[in-house]
Amino acid sequence: MPLSEFALIDRYFAAHARRRPDVALGIGDDGALLTPPVDQQLVVTLDTLVAEVHFFAAADPEGIGHKVLAVNLSDLAAMGATPAWVTLALTLPKVDETWLKAFCRGLFALADRYGVQLIGGDTTQGPTTVITLQAHGFAPLGLALRRTGARPGDGIYVTGTPGDAGLALAAAFGKTTVASEYRDYLQRRLERPEPRIAQGLALRGLASAAIDLSDGLAQDLGHILERSGVGARLAVDQLPLSPALAASLDPEAALGMALAGGDDYELCFTAPPEQTARLESLALHWDCRCTCIGVITAEPGLWLLRADESVFHLHRSGYNHFTSHAGKSD
Ligand code: ADP
Ligand code: MG
Repeated sequence: MPLSEFALIDRYFAAHARRRPDVALGIGDDGALLTPPVDQQLVVTLDTLVAEVHFFAAADPEGIGHKVLAVNLSDLAAMGATPAWVTLALTLPKVDETWLKAFCRGLFALADRYGVQLIGGDTTQGPTTVITLQAHGFAPLGLALRRTGARPGDGIYVTGTPGDAGLALAAAFGKTTVASEYRDYLQRRLERPEPRIAQGLALRGLASAAIDLSDGLAQDLGHILERSGVGARLAVDQLPLSPALAASLDPEAALGMALAGGDDYELCFTAPPEQTARLESLALHWDCRCTCIGVITAEPGLWLLRADESVFHLHRSGYNHFTSHAGKSD
């Protein structure tokens, strides 16, 4: 007999939700009752994954559970927020308990690592799988990171190695081939992004602006530039390419992928020169690279420059849901 909506919620969601002391009432009532800490601002963000737009319907459900939370935690990281609570809206064509079990395994494994509690949601039947997750976090009053604070002379930094997820997606669509030794690594970079929470927290009071990379480095950095009213010179030869990316594409295409490939969930941020030493010593303890890739300028516009100062031409700037036709997942 198919599981009722309520039995499903109990079995898969209520049973696994951890208990935080700031949750007076979680799953099971008409609403959750929460006690946010005093002196902190609540940071709220939401992301939706749609089957066949953001993930292949046949994709590993454990990875989907991980990713829907990871992309939201990545937004909290970009705000310099500590994750706390999530709500989940799930639309499913049918109840598939094998799928649900694996989805929950991925979701709760990541939630537990960050001490996040699932506090409510909605479960509905519909023609295709749609997963919406809303994440709530805290940042001390006035210390949340924003896109607006970049100033001329600030350095531009990126965590990790952008372009890996875009390469994995291109390979999945058969647009390129990758050597077998890199396949597991690239699949992990696409399906199991690691939210840069520790980095976001460390950047409070240090970074002048921050964003997480979902639509491609060039396009996402463009949002910082636009919102801050500045421009940038990016040294494309300093872009940190993973061995997998460097080995899979010709040098021009690899740089293009690092600049325009989507789905990286790395952080791009700016920091004033007087913070360089502090940043470098902090980044020594990070579990990912942190690379200076350019400088903010007063003159608006994004200049992509080679080491010899010639201009690097990017053919595709990044993903847009209403104008791009390649597959993606953000
Ligand atoms: P209501 O009809 O009052 O909106 P529901 O019957 O939709 O409530 O949900 C019952 C309880 O289960 C609520 O506390 C709701 O937040 C929770 N819930 C429903 N779906 C989910 C889900 N996918 N994940 C977590 N909690 C859920
Ligand atoms: Mg109700």
